[in-house]
Amino acid sequence: MRIADTHAHLYFPAFDKDREAVLERNRERGVGLQVQIGCNQESSEKALKLAQDHADIFCVLGIHPCDADKVENLEATLAYFEKQAEQYPDLVVGFGETGLDLYHRDTPELLEAQKKSLRGHLELCKQFDKPVVLHTRNSAEKTLEELDEFGKLDFGGVWHCFCENWSVAKQVLDRGLYLGVGGILTYPKAEETRNAIKLAPLSRIVTETDLPFLVPQSRRKETKRNESYFLEEVIEVIAEIKGEKLEKVEQALWDNAHALFKLTQ
Ligand SMILES: [Zn+2]
Repeated sequence: MRIADTHAHLYFPAFDKDREAVLERNRERGVGLQVQIGCNQESSEKALKLAQDHADIFCVLGIHPCDADKVENLEATLAYFEKQAEQYPDLVVGFGETGLDLYHRDTPELLEAQKKSLRGHLELCKQFDKPVVLHTRNSAEKTLEELDEFGKLDFGGVWHCFCENWSVAKQVLDRGLYLGVGGILTYPKAEETRNAIKLAPLSRIVTETDLPFLVPQSRRKETKRNESYFLEEVIEVIAEIKGEKLEKVEQALWDNAHALFKLTQ
């Protein structure tokens, strides 16, 4: 199977002991593309380093919404991302993960910081014509409002970790964004999300792990650490719920990942 993982955090300590072995094993299982996503300046640097060291890895630079109010100087951090994108135009393929997340804490100050950060990332996307990687949790409506206030999203993007219903999916698709789906799609309680994915055009879906998190259902008993090739199960579920041939779905998801990040195959 050919697999593209559009959202990974391989720089996490969970992989410190065997990162290269994990990469090798994943290549053998068909993983041909990984996009490492930064959560702040430090982890964005690590994501870029992984992209520099491996031909099949690219990176996205950003500040996670849950960290938005911890950034000392937003302008300086965004300027750092800008500099890296100028210097490594082929390795930096987008900006994020950014968005609104009021799940753990819900304060007006945090929301304000997240909105400001999101706007800054969107400006970078526009400047470089590179897609945005959106992270939203319990804030779908507010996020859509912010996107609309920004204006046209001609640079494209992905609604990462999509676990909403069809009504939200439709609004995301209307704005030209991809739906990023991973382990959650395999969980018993994700009925509404499976329905949304069934209705969404195959051409607007990309696969992602969010590793080390969100291990697909069949492996949850055996490990807590996700790997890109575990997406086999997610791809099978997509094929099943859409009633399409596995080969066709696999090829489409591979093509979509490249289209999203404007990568040539
Ligand atoms: Zn993530």
